[in-house]
Formats: sequence, structure tokens, C-alpha cells
Amino acid sequence: MADCIFCKIAQKEIPSQLVYEDEQVVAFKDLEPQAPVHVLIIPKKHVESIMALKAEDKDLVSHILIEVIPQLAKELQVDEKGFRVVANTGDEGGQSVKHLHFHLLGGRSMQWPPG
Ligand code: 5GP
Ligand code: ZN
Repeated sequence: MADCIFCKIAQKEIPSQLVYEDEQVVAFKDLEPQAPVHVLIIPKKHVESIMALKAEDKDLVSHILIEVIPQLAKELQVDEKGFRVVANTGDEGGQSVKHLHFHLLGGRSMQWPPG
């Protein structure tokens, strides 16, 4: 989508530190990391948020949750100690980029509740 920063990252029009890529998904380091491990996993196609997902996206979401995130957690060596996956959704959810993304945060103890 025009003017979407994460579409541009997925299409390599804007540089990022990619940590994973396949046909449907890219993952890259967050520009302002909030933990020693902080990567963003996004679909290459533009989906605004969880609320814009459709039934046809089931395979994509399953792929991200069942395959990509566990594989990345292992590669980034947070699988054993644990990590957090966050999908901020909408304004009150704290979503600043309107292209669906899953934060994978780890490498330190997380607090609850989040701010
Ligand atoms: P949100 O606030 O929407 O949940 O998360 C957006 C995230 O994207 C933030 O953590 C922010 O640091 C990150 N971010 C925003 N712009 C860029 C960018 O151009 N490159 C990278 N690598 N991360 C970005
Ligand atoms: Zn987009």
C-alpha cells in the first residue's frame, strides 16, 4: 500500500535489518528496540491490523504463529528462557504503524501489566 512504511520495508524500498524472509513474511529488527531481542514479524501483503484479517488469511496467521515465531525464537535464543509476542491493535492498543505486525521481545524479564 502506498505510503505504508512496512510495505516499503517488505518490498526493500526502505532498508531494515532483516532476520527472516519467505514468500509471505518478513521479520526485521525494531528501529527502537525495547529489549535485547526485539524483532517485528509482518505479512508481506498489507493488512491493517488483526481486525482486518479475513478467513482467507488463516494459513498466513498460522504460518506466522506456528512456524515463523517459534523458529525465530530458537534462532534468537529466547525459546528456553521465554519471550513475549505482542500485536498492538488500534489507537488505544498503541498501534502506531497500521500494517499488521507481531513484536517478538525477549532477552530480559518482562513486566505485567504492560504500560
Ligand atoms: P506499534 O507501535 O505499531 O506496535 O509498533 C511499531 C514499531 O515499529 C515500533 O516499535 C517502532 O520502533 C517500529 N518502527 C517504526 N518505524 C520503523 C522503521 O522504519 N524501521 C524499523 N525497523 N522499525 C520501525
Ligand atoms: Zn503496509
